[in-house]
Amino acid sequence: LHPTAARRPHQIVVESENSRFSDDYIISKYTDRGADVVVVNGQYIVKPTARSYEFQTQREVSKTGLMMVGIGGNNGTTLAATVLANRHNVVWHTKSGIQQPNYIGSVLRASTIRLGVDPTTGKDVNVPLGDVLPMVHPNDLVLGGWDISGLPLDKAMARAEVLPWDLQRQLTGHMAHLGKPLPSIYYPDFIAANQEARADNLIPGNDKQVHLERIRADIREFRSANDLDRIVVFWTANTERYSDIIPGVNDTADNLLKAIKNSHSEVSPSTLFAVAAILEGEPFINGAPQNTFVPGVIELAERHRAFISGDDLKSGQTKLKSVFAEFLVNAGIKPLAISSYNHLGNNDGRNLSADAQFKSKEISKSSVVDDMVDANRLLYKPPVPGAKGEHPDHIVVIKYVPAVGDSKRAIDEYYSEIFCGGRSTINIFNECEDSLLATPLILDLSILAELLTRVKYRDVTAGETEFNSLYSVLSLLSYMLKAPLVKPGTDVVNSLGRQRNALETFLKACLGLEGSTDLLLKSRIW
Ligand code: NAD
Repeated sequence: LHPTAARRPHQIVVESENSRFSDDYIISKYTDRGADVVVVNGQYIVKPTARSYEFQTQREVSKTGLMMVGIGGNNGTTLAATVLANRHNVVWHTKSGIQQPNYIGSVLRASTIRLGVDPTTGKDVNVPLGDVLPMVHPNDLVLGGWDISGLPLDKAMARAEVLPWDLQRQLTGHMAHLGKPLPSIYYPDFIAANQEARADNLIPGNDKQVHLERIRADIREFRSANDLDRIVVFWTANTERYSDIIPGVNDTADNLLKAIKNSHSEVSPSTLFAVAAILEGEPFINGAPQNTFVPGVIELAERHRAFISGDDLKSGQTKLKSVFAEFLVNAGIKPLAISSYNHLGNNDGRNLSADAQFKSKEISKSSVVDDMVDANRLLYKPPVPGAKGEHPDHIVVIKYVPAVGDSKRAIDEYYSEIFCGGRSTINIFNECEDSLLATPLILDLSILAELLTRVKYRDVTAGETEFNSLYSVLSLLSYMLKAPLVKPGTDVVNSLGRQRNALETFLKACLGLEGSTDLLLKSRIW
């Protein structure tokens, strides 16, 4: 572990009957308040509900490794290089002066949460979100991973063409020190044919069971070589095509394990990595859109009480959409059509220029407005038996334009119905430095996943005495994800505001504090 990993003290103490701070744990009481609503003859009958829980958060953060699948790509090398720049405080020259490394774009390191009010001044006290509970600092992550391309990481950073030359120049030695990615699994059918020339660093053979064992061994070796307590395995490799869900193959945990033994063709590399992480008891996060989490993976994670999260990083266009569409619908304005175009010139764009891989991205980008539409049946007709509910037209186009490189252009038109038959058109042109937006999300996801492995709960209302780990699918990470995976049978929340609120409320609940409220009652009354 890097020397800066000396324990970083946790600076918040809550003095309340709802919170206990011991050397090892923070134990908090939390009342989950809601309401049961039944509709009888057009009348809404509402019964407030309250359920008591206790949370137990282990205070000592794990020595954490981050193993990226696709470490040699744009995201992988940008993450490694920027963490190294922060860790070693490497500054670099730009045309406007000297640039310091930072973690802008990370909600944990660069955004704050309102903890309360200073009674002497009446002013809000805000703290970094990442300081609410003890969390791993990104500088302390031990980095490693796999890539089908064997280019050493200093050269892979240069190939990515993301970071300015003066920074690359100074980081070359540090990146070279990270060496070459571990060999990976390549099943050509799953990613675009145009990636084949990269695939020179492969675990040999076609036996999927052998491949699984090899990945598991890699995780174990990385753990022992670096003396780690926890390893987050993160898929930031190319987008794969969707896997077919086939009864008897990937529909249950046992069938999936059998299908791996039989090297069934429909088991994707990303699913194999997820299974390897689950069997090693480590969290797995999918940063790409494909359906890595076939039903058999979810069942396997539940069985092993392992943690999974995905899908697809919500970095640019979709992040804005999950704010903007909600703003329109909540303002009582009716989007009729949302039309999105992307020009992308990096290797991800090249891979997405193939139909099957584009399809995965299209699906992941398309569902983002569904919950906002479902929540407002004043504007959109509800579903009736035999017919789906009304929905705005929503199209997504991605074109590979090599010249723009990593600097993606996203163009969105929101065409809406306004008062008494009027129309409104809003166009947004969004230029995203793709990997610079994605890297902080990978860090936030990994750090939160590690934290959530240390949080346990018990349902006091149900009389539980033992603390349990959280449910396997970490939907609390949805803020950073385009198509959040949630507990089967529960609703997906895409709204960025609601996702952030859930995260804030949960972090505060672990301290024994009530959720964030903007009621500000004192400012409304005498
Ligand atoms: P990239 O093409 O630069 O990097 C992907 C890397 O994965 C490559 O180095 C490739 O060799 C490697 N790879 C492919 N298959 C592999 C396998 N089976 N095992 C190990 N390595 C493998 O792409 P990127 O820009 O870094 O994006 C990575 C992923 O993140 C893509 O799937 C992309 O869709 C997704 N994503 C990116 C963003 C963003 O803003 N950058 C946003 C959302 C999602």
